[in-house]
Amino acid sequence: MKIISISLFIILCLLALTISSCFKWAARAHKKIPDTTALDKSYQYEGKVIIVGAGAAGLAAAKVLEQNNIDYKILEASDRYGGRLKKNTTLADFPIDIGAEWIHSAPIILNKLKGKAGDQIEEELIPYHLEETYSWDGQNYKKSSQVQNDFMYKFMPESKFKNSTWYDFVNENIAATVKHKIEFNAPVTAINYASDKVEVKTKNGEVYTADKVLVTVSIGVLKANHIRFTPDFSEERKAAINRIIFHPGFKLVMKFREQFYPDAINCKVESGEKGFYDIAFKKEAQSNILGLLVTGNSTEAYYKLESEEEIVKAAIAELDNIFHGKASELYTGEYILENWGQHQLTMGTWTQAFQQKKSDLKILNRALDKKVYFAGEINDTYQQMGVPGAVLSGYHSIDKLLTEKK
Ligand SMILES: Cc1cc2nc3c(=O)[nH]c(=O)nc-3n(C[C@H](O)[C@H](O)[C@H](O)COP(=O)(O)OP(=O)(O)OC[C@H]3O[C@@H](n4cnc5c(N)ncnc54)[C@H](O)[C@@H]3O)c2cc1C
Repeated sequence: MKIISISLFIILCLLALTISSCFKWAARAHKKIPDTTALDKSYQYEGKVIIVGAGAAGLAAAKVLEQNNIDYKILEASDRYGGRLKKNTTLADFPIDIGAEWIHSAPIILNKLKGKAGDQIEEELIPYHLEETYSWDGQNYKKSSQVQNDFMYKFMPESKFKNSTWYDFVNENIAATVKHKIEFNAPVTAINYASDKVEVKTKNGEVYTADKVLVTVSIGVLKANHIRFTPDFSEERKAAINRIIFHPGFKLVMKFREQFYPDAINCKVESGEKGFYDIAFKKEAQSNILGLLVTGNSTEAYYKLESEEEIVKAAIAELDNIFHGKASELYTGEYILENWGQHQLTMGTWTQAFQQKKSDLKILNRALDKKVYFAGEINDTYQQMGVPGAVLSGYHSIDKLLTEKK
């Protein structure tokens, strides 16, 4: 009996230790933040660099080149920069993140991303500590206990910008000094690195030449073979790209006359995520804005619908089911739907590098002949996830590109 009690005690202690420290996401992510980045170094590089893609990773890499007066150009397929960072300022009385929204890492990461020393951050953040959450399995709508909410916050103390967005942060601190070097509407279709110089072709028929190239397109774009590489990727690299999980999905933002919903409703799904959440949570706002974020398997049902309007109708119908018709009654008819999973320049939502096979990540981080390098969310060597991961990968890969001799 005594042995059983002692064993039980030890198990409980181990469990408590595990929950409180080892698996605490933010603490682990904090430890992995690099002490210095390429922003803290100086580089002498005489060649020309082309960056493919003006998302968080591409813009971050460009910031280093700009800081060191290195000759470079950014080729961006769309007519805007930011990639999976996007904001809307017309739907509500506060700016809404249509792509990345939460700061999953410790807030100090913001200083590291912009190259500011010290522990004091300048941004005003909202701790994402929820107070009223429910679960929904299609039939049962159940309140979650505050203990569960507290545990989630302890495990992953996320935050959100109070009066700003991820887009603004990257725009002001990273894009500001490099945006004049972006060639918009220039989708890259081919990269030839067979000779000494690298040749980059765009859909418009333009051919650019550089000494080295940094590719920052999403793993979805690489999976879809939108860019032809010559020589072709090795079979090993192709297999690694195929194995990376990159869920389809979308973000739907809806406006209501009154708030009838809680902080968040977590929906039961087989893979990925699905949840309704109050986007205005703790914001200084009057607008009632509810988000629906869907990734993974449950996306399929929505993608079978014929139009955006049908997707919105399905979301309202589901809310009506939970709230007995309140959603239709209070819906203003205004929404924003960003279908990242079917967007040709993204082809998915997000991936978490730390959840993938280490050997695959190693292959994806390898340069091609020390001429073509890769950065982006999937090349996040510091396990930060999302935007911080993408920005740090930009700094990390551009450092490699500038220091490795051909
Ligand atoms: C709905 C959603 C919610 C998210 N939520 C969060 C969150 O809360 N917190 C967080 O940290 N992260 C979040 N993320 C993830 C985050 O947005 C990404 O990790 C990050 O923005 C990726 O940046 P990137 O530079 O690696 O890639 P991207 O942003 O995809 O940038 C790649 C760029 O390359 C361009 N491009 C594509 N193909 C070509 C081509 N052939 N030629 C030239 N240019 C090309 C694209 O247009 C794009 O500008 C979310 C993402 C989505 C979609």
